[in-house]
Amino acid sequence: MRALQERYQAALFATTAAMLAAVGLAACCQAAEWKSGIVWPEPKVIDPGPPGGPPSDAIVLFDGKDLSKWHNGENWIIKDGYAIANKTGITTKDSFGDCQLHIEWAAPEKIEGSGQGRGNSGVYLMERYEVQILDSYDNPTYYDGQAGAIYKQQPPMVNACRKPGQWQTFDIIFTAPRFDKDGKLLRPAYVTVLHNGVVIQNHFELQGGTFWDQPPSYTPHPPKAPLHLQFHGNPVRFRNIWIRELKEITPIKPDKPGQGKGS
Ligand code: MG
Repeated sequence: MRALQERYQAALFATTAAMLAAVGLAACCQAAEWKSGIVWPEPKVIDPGPPGGPPSDAIVLFDGKDLSKWHNGENWIIKDGYAIANKTGITTKDSFGDCQLHIEWAAPEKIEGSGQGRGNSGVYLMERYEVQILDSYDNPTYYDGQAGAIYKQQPPMVNACRKPGQWQTFDIIFTAPRFDKDGKLLRPAYVTVLHNGVVIQNHFELQGGTFWDQPPSYTPHPPKAPLHLQFHGNPVRFRNIWIRELKEITPIKPDKPGQGKGS
């Protein structure tokens, strides 16, 4: 009787194992690669360049030698491969919309002033959206006005500031706002900022232009506008400035999302 039971259990086990194996095999063999059916253009090949240096498709705005690509560039002092903010702000002659910007800056090594008066400058995207430059190393001020803040809209997530005198990087990814032909805002601007390689703004939705004396608000403007670097009375230094224009890639076909078929 016991032998019969054991034989029955063994047979049951073997059958169950065989069934499981069959199910597994079927699942395996029924699986097929999913394809969207969308035909994409081939991504353009570029040379990423040296670490921190300009990729091959970047527009170099300042390579340490001259500020000929900027209005009022003659007001700044160029020395030893960097430019020192002086007299006025500077504004690019070219205009940009969606972009990736790399810029290196250093607050004066000699500490003078405090709060907003210490190492103040700023990166004005499209001349109106300021990513704050400030010596925020052990220099308290209002949080949405410290280095890496979207001025008076959003503080940086962390304070990644280096000591005054040391070189620092901003890598900024910016999506310009969109307006319709009547000037109505269709889509706000977005900005991501890495300060010294650390994400401090993550796809932040701008509420409009950044102002000192009024709340943020949007005023319609063209799809592209110049980049402006602020002079706020402090000899902030700059070097290695380059920008890449960003273009959204679109499928060759279909031309509307959701029209693709698996194949
Ligand atoms: Mg500023």
